Amino acid sequence: MNYNKKTIYDVDVKGKKVLLRCDFNVPQDKETGEITSNKRIVAAIPTIKYLLENGAAVIACSHLGKPKGEWKEKLTLAPVAKRLSELLNHEVIFAKDIIGEDAKAKAAALKPGEIMLLENLRFDIREEKNGEDFAKELASMAEIFVSDAFGTVHRAHASTAGVAKFLPAYSGLLVDKELSIMGKALDDPKRPFVAVLGGAKVSDKINVINNLLEKADTIIIGGGMAYTFKKAQGYEIGTSLLEADRIDYAKDMVKKAQEKGVKFMLPVDNLCAKEFSADAEPVLAEGNIPEDLMGMDIGPKTCEAFADAVKNAGTIVWNGPMGVFEFDKFAGGTKAMAKALAESGAVTIVGGGDSASAVEKLGFADKITHISTGGGASLEFLEGKELPGVACLLDK
Ligand code: AMP
Repeated sequence: MNYNKKTIYDVDVKGKKVLLRCDFNVPQDKETGEITSNKRIVAAIPTIKYLLENGAAVIACSHLGKPKGEWKEKLTLAPVAKRLSELLNHEVIFAKDIIGEDAKAKAAALKPGEIMLLENLRFDIREEKNGEDFAKELASMAEIFVSDAFGTVHRAHASTAGVAKFLPAYSGLLVDKELSIMGKALDDPKRPFVAVLGGAKVSDKINVINNLLEKADTIIIGGGMAYTFKKAQGYEIGTSLLEADRIDYAKDMVKKAQEKGVKFMLPVDNLCAKEFSADAEPVLAEGNIPEDLMGMDIGPKTCEAFADAVKNAGTIVWNGPMGVFEFDKFAGGTKAMAKALAESGAVTIVGGGDSASAVEKLGFADKITHISTGGGASLEFLEGKELPGVACLLDK
């Protein structure tokens, strides 16, 4: 896949209307609807500022939550418009619809240096279905399309890919950063290239492992998914997470790694518990895990071995926690991994979702080269899949 895409620096935006796809899918308080984190709005600001300062009229759009084509008052983007306006210190005009009369009138009247936000794209079922008529209507309000919502580039929706059929399409600064850092890491990594994978399930990461076996020098497996691999190697794993139907796959992967000369590392000791609970007493098990215990985190010897393996790496990609990091007693392995990455001197890339929140929660975020803003998108990136929201952008 070609990641070398034209950006907003490659086009003269002066006096142009720009349709800007953002990821304003912010977390909200379930009761009050209040926005609980500004992070995604803040992440969009550099691109918005650049466009406004360079004389574009910006028509921003985003989805919020999963309204599934229905108009849901709780999922209106009106509070996002207000918060964006506060953060930008600039008026944000809010349209009461998406491609309706209000949006079209406001878009037509929009002047250079002004910004408006359309209502939640997913209030229209045609957004997620990539309806061509919907994409065409969206595009009709603008002259240029800019994609800055990395969290949705793995989806072929009207506003992420469909509109590029009707408008010249460029990446925003956020998407460009994701592409240049992750794209380089995968295509031309500084070696040794170490991939650290964790999280609950092997089945979620099969394509990631397949792809990384072709590229990485070392693959480290932790988290719940490690136990299927341990079982495949003949170890007892007690009541730990197991995907019995993936045991053969796990055996194949280890064999393939050996053939390719890729170092494949699994936990050698584990912190276990009698039950899946934050209050459970941690019990250390080396090698086999007793039948009444489940592996909840990697043990101290494993932490040391994994940290040692990343110490001299040139590039490290990490996706998925090493244990049940939500429980303090079992967060040690994930913390040790975050610290090892932070201290490594390598180009360090943390995939979105749980590993990103772990790194942030544990206070190592500022020592990581890049924390991806897209969970699903960064996983599909690591799978080597073509991302529709990237493929549709103009090549450099
Ligand atoms: P994923 O979404 O696949 O990245 O998985 C993240 C989840 O995996 C987190 O909620 C962790 O609590 C969970 N997890 C990590 N290690 C284990 C484990 N040993 N047993 C059960 N769940 C785990």
